[in-house]
Amino acid sequence: MTNITEKTSPPLSYAKSSFPNPWATYLAQVDRVTPYLKSLARWVETLKHPKRTMIVDVPIEMDDGIVRHFEGFRVQHNLSRGPGKGGLRFHPQVTLEETMALAAWMTIKTAAMDLPFGGAKGGIRVDPFALSDNELEKITRRYTSEISIIIGPQKDIPAPDVNTNAQVMAWIMDTYSMQVGFTASGVVTGKPLHLGGSLGRVKATGRGVFVTGREAASRMGLSLEGARVCVQGFGNVGSSAAELFVLNGAKVVALQDQWGTVIDEAGIDVPALMMSAPSRKGIGGSPDLNDAFWNTPCDILILAALESQLTAERARRTTAKLVLEGANGPTLPDADDVLADRNILVVPDVICNAGGVTVSYFEWVQDFSSFFWSENEINSRLDTLMVEAFRKIWACADFNKVSLRTAAYIVACERILAAREARGLYP
Ligand code: GLU
Repeated sequence: MTNITEKTSPPLSYAKSSFPNPWATYLAQVDRVTPYLKSLARWVETLKHPKRTMIVDVPIEMDDGIVRHFEGFRVQHNLSRGPGKGGLRFHPQVTLEETMALAAWMTIKTAAMDLPFGGAKGGIRVDPFALSDNELEKITRRYTSEISIIIGPQKDIPAPDVNTNAQVMAWIMDTYSMQVGFTASGVVTGKPLHLGGSLGRVKATGRGVFVTGREAASRMGLSLEGARVCVQGFGNVGSSAAELFVLNGAKVVALQDQWGTVIDEAGIDVPALMMSAPSRKGIGGSPDLNDAFWNTPCDILILAALESQLTAERARRTTAKLVLEGANGPTLPDADDVLADRNILVVPDVICNAGGVTVSYFEWVQDFSSFFWSENEINSRLDTLMVEAFRKIWACADFNKVSLRTAAYIVACERILAAREARGLYP
């Protein structure tokens, strides 16, 4: 018997914006690129307005019988080049504006990689670590049911993001399939292998961080052998990127997750930590070292946690020569200026962490054709696409004498706005 007590948890915050506001960061990035877009600049307003924004109420009956209401979002920022594509995150600080920014960064990312997608993102404001598996499944299924009118293999395809994984994707796929009456494996990517998932998808984002980092380092004359790496975030992205850097001769001298920091100049044993640290318990670091993380001497700084982490003040303190954005939006615009002044190269999120969505694209293609590729094939195609995208963006940066971020935005915005122009304004 359902207890009828209902609670709103956490409190509603339609108007709340997180500070610093990621949507403002994104708008500042668009303003920076506009002068380079020539005649396409007349369409740039379209990038400043998400096409479709959905806020849903997600009520579930908790294990104690109380019905709690959570707030969920799905934003389709731009669909000019194809269906919406982007992850779903579960986090206690998710807001509409944050989801708008994350969706917009997906639009730029898919275009920078020349994948036939637009940009979308979803989120539920919840602390998933406070939920039982049963509650997690219920919240995922109810959210999916609420947004099912706007998602679909040809419409908008969710994928894992912060605190979501293959199991969550399986529940989304099942809920959607039950609603439409057939098995629709292409409605999500990042699924388990036995449901039409792709080999290589779990580590794809970290692999992409490594590939773009390797390309940047070689152009800078920075050898990976013995390079000191600091990594913020030890989830899926941070851990797999760290693992690949270590495999290629680098040493991880500092690691930070949401609970604390580990610093070891001799090099942290990343594979051992990946084995021993179940993700819910973290790396066992000390919160007292959190601030020291930012001035730990290093060559490469990998940001693989959340947005707005690298402030101008932290940018002044870092000793890194190369910053790799494994997370979405981790660097604030004024920190970008500090890094540029200090001649520190930044490989921006929209290319650096695009390995995940690129293998998501491979998964979607495999689902449609019902023909599956080997892991070697996936990894080598990923390498090829990322190296090519990096080469184009590097050449654009060189030609226009701009940062890699502005160059990535130039390449991406030209593709999006050319599609926008060719399609014309409806009606
Ligand atoms: N959440 C990942 C990202 O931010 C992957 C998105 C996807 O595969 O659609 O790029």
